Amino acid sequence: MRLFDKQKLTQDTKDTLSAILLHDLIAEKLDIFCWCNKCNHNNIIATKLVMEKLGPNYPVPEVGRNLRCGKCNNTQNIATRPNWPTHGGQIARHM
Ligand SMILES: [Zn+2]
Repeated sequence: MRLFDKQKLTQDTKDTLSAILLHDLIAEKLDIFCWCNKCNHNNIIATKLVMEKLGPNYPVPEVGRNLRCGKCNNTQNIATRPNWPTHGGQIARHM
């Protein structure tokens, strides 16, 4: 590993992070959290159902392009990310 490749390494890491694929979520047993940026409607959809339509190598952040908001019919501006488990309850109790 060469020092002057640091810039490139940083970019590679960024690309990797932004391109979580559907089969990665299957492996982690995570569903997909989607959020409509227009009306703030949000929902969780089963990764398995999405993967049957789009294939295992489809990037999770791109899934939103194939979704339609059930509330305002928006198709242009839907964000999708892995539905990471939250530990809010435990953190809230920690003073
Ligand atoms: Zn909406």
